[in-house]
Amino acid sequence: MIAQNLAKIRRRIDGVKHSQQVTLVAVGKTKSAADLQQAIDAGQRHFGENYLQEALEKIEILKNQALVWHFIGAIQSNKTKAIAQNFDWVHSVDQLKIAQRLNHQRPLGLKKLNVLLQVNIDHEATKSGVLVEDIEALVPQFEQFQHIVLRGFMCIPHPNQAEQSFKAMSNILKKYPNLDTLSMGMSADFDLAVKNGATFVRVGTDIFGQRVYS
Ligand SMILES: *Cc1c(COP(=O)(O)O)cnc(C)c1O
Repeated sequence: MIAQNLAKIRRRIDGVKHSQQVTLVAVGKTKSAADLQQAIDAGQRHFGENYLQEALEKIEILKNQALVWHFIGAIQSNKTKAIAQNFDWVHSVDQLKIAQRLNHQRPLGLKKLNVLLQVNIDHEATKSGVLVEDIEALVPQFEQFQHIVLRGFMCIPHPNQAEQSFKAMSNILKKYPNLDTLSMGMSADFDLAVKNGATFVRVGTDIFGQRVYS
């Protein structure tokens, strides 16, 4: 099932007109390492996780395979060390303080940690992320870091205006020639995100099925 779902999603991405390279990040929150292994066997390499403890268990179980791990969940200060030690990408940086900690805690033997600024593109009170008007002051601050590198932006738009918000994100990225990454689009809207410039789409339900929270 998971293999078929992945094939269907890849076909859907290919079916959308786009010129950028798009990488599918399989979001495995609440799903087992065995589920992820099925995706790996079907050629999937990039995985996204929201909950640190759960992620660390799966990273340990799957460690002998060449995977790319993306942290996409809310980040508490006391979790930055383990995130810096175990992930390749962090999509959900929304404060300089968190970036500073990740930079300080990234082990020296590893490649630079790739980070994205999460943008609260629709100014929603309930969502994390930096506001659009704060981006311009924040981006240059990342130049001080030696062990992390800002690559672009991530957003979770309001469902009623996803396309408009994806377009707005794409316009923001264009202002920064040194940045190349837009993480946007989930099961409900990844086609629209690809059409509007996403380079990472983060898909969970359409790959692994509905999540059950116990
Ligand atoms: C859960 C989650 C996803 C995947 O959502 P689906 O609707 O299951 O595809 C993507 N991004 C983030 C930040 C998530 O928390």
